[in-house]
Amino acid sequence: MLTFDFDNTYARELAGFYAAWKPAPAPAPRLMYFNSELAAELGLPAELPAPSELAQLFAGNRLPDGAEPLAQAYAGHQFGGFSPRLGDGRALLLGEVIDRSGRRRDIAFKGSGRTPFSRGGDGKAAVGPMLREVIIGEAMHALGIPTTRALAVAATGEHVMRELPLPGAVLTRVAASHLRVGTFQYFVARGEIDKLRQLLEYAIARHDPALAGAPDRVFGFFRAVAARQAALIAQWMNVGFIHGVMNTDNMTISGETIDYGPCAFMEAMNPGAVFSSIDHGGRYAYANQPHVARWNLAKLAEALLPLVADGDDKASVDRAVAEATAVIDAFPGQFAAALLTGQRAKLGLTNATPADDATDSALVEDWLALLERERVDFTLAWRRLADAAGGSDAPLRMLVADGDALAAWLIRWRARCAADDAASGMAVGEASPARAERMRKVNPFVIPRNHRVEEALSAASDNDDLGPFENLLAAVRRPFEETPDLATYGEPAPLAVTAGYQTFCGT
Ligand code: AMP
Ligand code: MG
Repeated sequence: MLTFDFDNTYARELAGFYAAWKPAPAPAPRLMYFNSELAAELGLPAELPAPSELAQLFAGNRLPDGAEPLAQAYAGHQFGGFSPRLGDGRALLLGEVIDRSGRRRDIAFKGSGRTPFSRGGDGKAAVGPMLREVIIGEAMHALGIPTTRALAVAATGEHVMRELPLPGAVLTRVAASHLRVGTFQYFVARGEIDKLRQLLEYAIARHDPALAGAPDRVFGFFRAVAARQAALIAQWMNVGFIHGVMNTDNMTISGETIDYGPCAFMEAMNPGAVFSSIDHGGRYAYANQPHVARWNLAKLAEALLPLVADGDDKASVDRAVAEATAVIDAFPGQFAAALLTGQRAKLGLTNATPADDATDSALVEDWLALLERERVDFTLAWRRLADAAGGSDAPLRMLVADGDALAAWLIRWRARCAADDAASGMAVGEASPARAERMRKVNPFVIPRNHRVEEALSAASDNDDLGPFENLLAAVRRPFEETPDLATYGEPAPLAVTAGYQTFCGT
């Protein structure tokens, strides 16, 4: 049996915040995926039990020693509407381990059966969506973006009823924690302010220990969550990632990306890009993500307010609201700064002072506008800009029909690069190879392209063929390489595929 060195603070310290619960038995478990690199990071023994035993464990049939499975309570705004009681309807936290770097990590199942929070749902998950979570999570990790990660996927051997019967699976997810904005909303909606306070202290101990005991820790915590989200969403935007369902129950306190449901990477640059089949209004479209993050943070602020304001004392409420508002109003600037820092790296710029902000913002805005107007693939355009930095403009020119507009923009960019080189004390041209190299380390060639993801998932789900999934996974783990074997993974989807592409959540 695989041994986890569990230390379960959530179960131990937060009685009343969850329902202790057991996974549903799986009739015929089979291991589909196991992440041995992540297992090593978690301190699991290198000597692994047989795959059949791992399958029993990761399908939920045989719990590891020390696991205390529980379904967490949380609420959430879904597409703007508040649901006071969501919770883990198909997930169970098994416990926490301290990893090799000393970080506390949650180990949780997803798709392990009904819980007291399941409402009308079956508590189950299908193979396809769980493998999607593996691919996108590992891609995000390889891109250097904070994310939950998949440790294992086990097929259950039973079918789950969706529009069609689909093979079922359980995912084992590793997260810095599963605390969400919605966790706070749950207790404030119930008027359980003592529990709200307890939750805050727990969250601070876990994610912002430097704030423990500080008199201003409520707002300190709020500012820290906002800072993490500003950094995270900026990273999403700079790789063209669209989460698809940024409900407050899907926004973490830790700053990790969580819940890869109807998510996708943008192909052609399009601020309005949206792939989710249920997002009719485009609420969670690509360019809306920073605005939604800010909105979600305002909901967190509302939830925290009872901890700093006495409802019977108008002055104290006004003071707290003003302080929260200041943080929320600062968010767009914070996000923009993080975005620009990332964009400068993508442009190959290393030296920037605040005096360069306006020039650099305009430079990148015009670049993105050009890509949008010309419907250029976002990922490839940046990658080909790295080639241009190395002296080879042709690949980029092939992507952009309006050659004059591109040439005009390249002149501006090169002037800015020359200034950047001068600031480093380098002669014109001297820095080019280094710039190209640097740019290739931040502008990926391989992203999980939607048509490749679909191809991999349907082979696994429909034909029990894990080959395409494994190949794609290996490719997205090397996002910054561009070798002949990766060429097919760098190709954009045919336009017809992208136009009609939708992803589904809750499956
Ligand atoms: P999600 O869209 O995965 O973030 O889930 C939103 C809410 O719906 C959470 O409370 C989930 O636990 C719940 N949920 C999603 N799918 C199911 C399911 N198949 N059975 C029960 N609850 C579910
Ligand atoms: Mg969720």
